[in-house]
Formats: sequence, C-alpha cells, structure tokens
Amino acid sequence: MSTAAVSLSSGELKARCPRSLLDLGSDPMPTAGVDGLIPVLLTWSGSRIQSVRATSEATGLVLPRLVEPHAHLDKAFSWTEHPNLQGTYEQALAANFREHETRTAAKVEQRGERCLQLAWQHGLRAVRSHIDSLGPGANFSWEVLADLSNNWRERIELQLVALVPIEHWSTAEGEHLAAAVAKVDGLIGGVLAPPCRGRATRRALRRLLELADRHGCPVDLHIDEAASQPAEGVRQLLHVLESMTVSVPVTCSHASSLSLLSAGALQRLAARMARQNLRVVALPLTNGWLLGHRDNETPLRRPLAPIRQLQRAGIAVAVGGDNVQDPWYPGGQLDPLALMAMSLPLAQLAPWDDDGLKPFGTDATGLMGLDWDGRLRAGAPADLIHLPGGSWPELLSMASRRRVLAGGHWVQDWA
Ligand SMILES: [Zn+2]
Repeated sequence: MSTAAVSLSSGELKARCPRSLLDLGSDPMPTAGVDGLIPVLLTWSGSRIQSVRATSEATGLVLPRLVEPHAHLDKAFSWTEHPNLQGTYEQALAANFREHETRTAAKVEQRGERCLQLAWQHGLRAVRSHIDSLGPGANFSWEVLADLSNNWRERIELQLVALVPIEHWSTAEGEHLAAAVAKVDGLIGGVLAPPCRGRATRRALRRLLELADRHGCPVDLHIDEAASQPAEGVRQLLHVLESMTVSVPVTCSHASSLSLLSAGALQRLAARMARQNLRVVALPLTNGWLLGHRDNETPLRRPLAPIRQLQRAGIAVAVGGDNVQDPWYPGGQLDPLALMAMSLPLAQLAPWDDDGLKPFGTDATGLMGLDWDGRLRAGAPADLIHLPGGSWPELLSMASRRRVLAGGHWVQDWA
C-alpha cells in the first residue's frame, strides 16, 4: 500500500461522546458531566478505530454511525400518489392496498435506492425493512430488495422482513416464502392487530414460530398497533410462547396499545415478556400521527409503546422511524438524528441518561443482531457521525448538520 493511501485512511478526532457509547478498555471511565458526555480523542487507521482515550477538553459531538430498526422501503415516497388525508389507520391500509396494485419492480428499486442513499448520507449503517410479501408485486419486491441489499452490503446492512398476514405462514406458499427468506438471512414477519381470533390466531402464531425456528430466521411482528383492546396481540403471543420453546429472537414492533393498560397490568405483562426474552421496537412518529385519530379532535391519550416501563422490566427497546413519506406517515427521511430530535419529546426520553439513549444505540444494535454493538472502542469500525455542536440542545435543534465517517473515510462532509 502506498504512503498516500495510508494517510488517506488515517485520522483523528477530538469530540464529546455519550458515556454509554464509549468503551475505554482497561482505562478508567472518567466521570461524565450532567449531560452524560465525555471528551475523547479518537484515532483510526484503515477501516478500524485505533485508539479511544479520554481527554481534557473537546468541542463538537461524536456518535457511532447509527441504525434504523424498522422501515418500509418498498412503499417509500408513495404518499404523493396515494395520500391518506384522513390520517387514520384504516385509510392508510386502504391507500397501501391501492398503491400495491400499481407497484412495479422499477418503482420498488427506485424507492429502495433513494432510501439507502438517504440513509448513507445521514449516517445509518444498518436498516431493517419490512416488505409486503403477499399480493401483487410481492415476488419482485422481495427479489429487488434482496439485490439492493447485496449491492449495498459494504456500506449499509439491509435486513429484510417478509410481512404477510400471520395465517399465510401455515400455507404451502408460506413454506416456500420461509425458505426464500432464510436464503437471504431474512426475518419472518406478520401483522397481529385486534380483533384477534382466539384459538385460530394462536394456531397461526405457533405455526409461524415453528417455521421461523426450523429455518433459523428471527421474527419481527407488527403487533398491537392499535388504540383499543390493549395488548391483545402480545397476550396471544405470550400464550403461545409459554407453551413451546423458540430459539430465534422474537421482536414486537409497535406494541402501542400497551400504554393503555393500567400500571399493574402493564407491570405483570412486561415481566412475562421479559421472561420470553421479547424485544420491542417503539415507533413514536407513525403511531403519534396515526393512532387514536378522530375528526376535529386532538387525542387525549396517545398509544405509544411504554418504553421506560418495558426497560424497567429488563426488555430491550429500540426506537425506529417506520414510514418514509407513504400513506402511513407523510414525513420520515431515514435520518437518525431527526428521529431522535422528534421522538425524544414524544416519548420523554432524556439522551443524557443511558436508558434514554439505549433505544437509539446499544439496544437497537443488539435487537438487530449486529456484530458491532456501536460502542466506540479500539478495534471497532471507524464509523462515526461528527456534529459541530457540543451539546444536546445543539444536536436536537440543528439535527441536519453533520459529517459522516464510514470505513475510515469521510463520505459525507458538513451538510
Ligand atoms: Zn411497520
């Protein structure tokens, strides 16, 4: 390798880093300020961090490249053609079905590529996308996004979840789909929203879990995205899990209606969820927009996964952005900093507390099963987001300004 090549991929940075995203190895961890930030000097060589040391002073903020645990690339940017002006769950579903009729391979490829470009510029290193995997366009959507996943592998890890009604996994086509999912290390998904059909729902869930286990595919369900019948889906899932052994990780995305339970009922349910090692992805933006929607009324209660209560029970909770300008939510741009800035107030999470940051950091990476937990340490990937402001208010109010280091190279300058 030439000297020029070595110098191109080496560098250093002095900035403040959240305590929970740092691993100083055998060096003692200095006491962080009340904002939970510690000034560090980072050096890297090639694609790896060489050293991370506490230093006396630093300006600017440094984070690892972040992750998006729940997105829908196949329907991204479809709001303009298929708006949901009433803003309800039912109308979103109806518009989604109409959009599905017009879906083409070219459209899905264009949407996926545009999403990944945004994710790359904004400093994401992994994205989990659910894909509508039944009905018109299902086959080519899966193939197109599997190809994209392959093309982007060096820059962004794209995880694919097959999203179908849970009963589909009990059919012969469901068997074929599971084999196709396993081939690309994908995940088994499904929708479990009230009203649940008692025994029939549990039978379908058992079949889904057996299939996932047999193929070694993790499970990620859309569950209890509702403003009524609190936790109906999670209760059915627990009923099944408590009578069988499942070795693959199971994630509950949304879990919104759990917040409508009484404090005691929630505590008991969360303890059962923790015993089954369930993980949760909270989706504050889409659910804040969609659930409990009534004409001419501001909702008095907002169904949103009760993040802190679940954490207290020992459950890993990640926060995701969900939709990107589609009938379910007109905003969204695969920007982890904008997601933080918008969800921290909705969920009342404090980024200076370790538990407030985990849903965007180590709990999100753990839930996605990534090799690197996202903590900055010697030997970790040289993958950073560098922000000019050195404080949380600056990050939260100027979320768009950043530069991004990936594999030891600045790939996005201040923007
Ligand atoms: Zn979703």
